Amino acid sequence: MIEPQIPCPRCGSFTSVEKVFCVRCGSRVIPLTEYDLTASDFIYPPDESALESFREFKPLSPLINELILKRYVRALFSRLEGGLAEISLSSEVGSIIRECGIILGLRSLPRSYLLKSDKPLAFTFGTGKSDYLFLSSGLLDLLDDRELRAAIGHELGHVKCGHSIYHTIAGVLTSGIELSLGLMGGALSSISSPMLRLMLLSWHRDSEISADRAGLIVANDPGKVISLLRKLHREPPEPGELLGEILSTHPTYEDRVKRVSEYYRSADYHAVKRKVERRLRLSKALSPVCRFCGGSKPLTSIFCPSCGRSQL
Ligand SMILES: [Zn+2]
Ligand SMILES: [Zn+2]
Ligand SMILES: [Zn+2]
Repeated sequence: MIEPQIPCPRCGSFTSVEKVFCVRCGSRVIPLTEYDLTASDFIYPPDESALESFREFKPLSPLINELILKRYVRALFSRLEGGLAEISLSSEVGSIIRECGIILGLRSLPRSYLLKSDKPLAFTFGTGKSDYLFLSSGLLDLLDDRELRAAIGHELGHVKCGHSIYHTIAGVLTSGIELSLGLMGGALSSISSPMLRLMLLSWHRDSEISADRAGLIVANDPGKVISLLRKLHREPPEPGELLGEILSTHPTYEDRVKRVSEYYRSADYHAVKRKVERRLRLSKALSPVCRFCGGSKPLTSIFCPSCGRSQL
């Protein structure tokens, strides 16, 4: 048996097909298929309808400007710098990120960083086109393996649902007026920013419920999601801290536990679980090259047209 390698469509480096994502840049090397999860398989319905209305809400569109958001992302980076190290996708934590990305069917993996801080922190932000995941060293110390999966699954759930751009806008709006005005320029003066802020903050709670569902999907154990929530809930963010205000708009611990437990018992969750199991079972077959003869094959076909062997 050979270990077929294919070039990454973004950076060109060769990755073995079973890794699904390029270990260098996080791009998908195996395209998404009908077997992969979609956001609508698990998204919390009020979150989905809020996202639809954001997309239609005209005053928001000048804010969804890649340039403005990139400047904000850069400003956040410069504040974090010093205590940051990029997480390699071939490291232990990197392989958990990859596995979560396979289960959730991400289009590409966010660039991931380890933040040196005793506080247990996990957050994502970005523009939707480029997303960033941050995990703190305090978080890695506090969580066991399955809780860490649930935490990473939660963050990647935000990416999968397309939350990052709106979280970033909310971050811009709550990060201090000088920063917001400086970055947003004229865009903000044309709309009522307190209204926008309220809208984004109230949606934020619903977006957390979708992300908790994603955490449950990858951990497949409500006990681990609940112990993760309990551990993180002991550490309320300080007001005025980076992203503190956004974090404080999370639903209460009790509410999140209740909703995760309800979702775990639902028919929707069981359907998602079956879909994930089937996707993982088919992993060896979902490839553009045969794992025996290296010849090219249709992405989803189980038998190789050249050598006739089953990929499973
Ligand atoms: Zn790449
Ligand atoms: Zn979250
Ligand atoms: Zn073959």
